Amino acid sequence: MNKSLQNALVTISGLASSTIIAILLSWIELRWGHALYSYTVWFVIPIGAICVGMLAASGFLAMARVLNFRPTRTTLVVMLITSISMFFAIQWINYNWMTVEGKSISGAISFQDFLSFTISHTTMQVGVRGHYSDTGIELGASGYGFAAVQILGFVLGGGSVYLILAAMTYCEKCSKYFSAKGVQHRYHMNPEGLQDACTTVMSEMQAGRVQHAILLHASSGSENPKDAAFSSNMELKECKGCGRHWTKFQAKKKSGSDWNDISGLSLAVYCDEPVELHRILAAR
Ligand SMILES: [Zn+2]
Repeated sequence: MNKSLQNALVTISGLASSTIIAILLSWIELRWGHALYSYTVWFVIPIGAICVGMLAASGFLAMARVLNFRPTRTTLVVMLITSISMFFAIQWINYNWMTVEGKSISGAISFQDFLSFTISHTTMQVGVRGHYSDTGIELGASGYGFAAVQILGFVLGGGSVYLILAAMTYCEKCSKYFSAKGVQHRYHMNPEGLQDACTTVMSEMQAGRVQHAILLHASSGSENPKDAAFSSNMELKECKGCGRHWTKFQAKKKSGSDWNDISGLSLAVYCDEPVELHRILAAR
């Protein structure tokens, strides 16, 4: 399949998912009065719009993955324009579906008037520690600022889907995304244990002895996360076309219930020969 046909199918899929999400949001808003996309944290962080932007753009991601299509600059531009359009699409569907005393709004006023009215009469429910005010606060002229923040949220959501797609490992030779082959987790009690694993594993990877690095990683630390303060991962992916492998080592530090990547203690390498994950239970 040629690139322009792939590009067209990815675009159609992204427009379809965006349209479905816009219709769904408009339906929820008109039925229950909740504009889910307008949920913000601290007035300026448009969490709702970011999530909606990501969901809307999911069609681009899914089709690109299915067709092994590497996104281009044109794809990015299309995705960003679609994200911006989401705000207006939702308002436009509202405009066409909304009725007042049985009469449709669209028969009474123009879309432009409807848009400027809804934006300047945006009301905001203010929540303090989970308790929301019953009557919203009308934003007036600052409704335009609030609308701009939401549009920015849609763009951030759509843009992040593009970044996810662009960051996926891809084989240029076969024009295929790499497929996941597995992840090996090891846990370490103290920084010394982690440091030992990092030094040996990363130096073997740099020397091109990837299979040996995986073996060393498997025999480091413990498979049990209990009481561990650090962890390390070996992630494997392969190109199903040419058999090329991609291996990534990443050290992590526990923070609360999360494992955060330690920057600098990370290495990804490609190798032409196949490598496998080893499961060493009692190597130490
Ligand atoms: Zn390949």
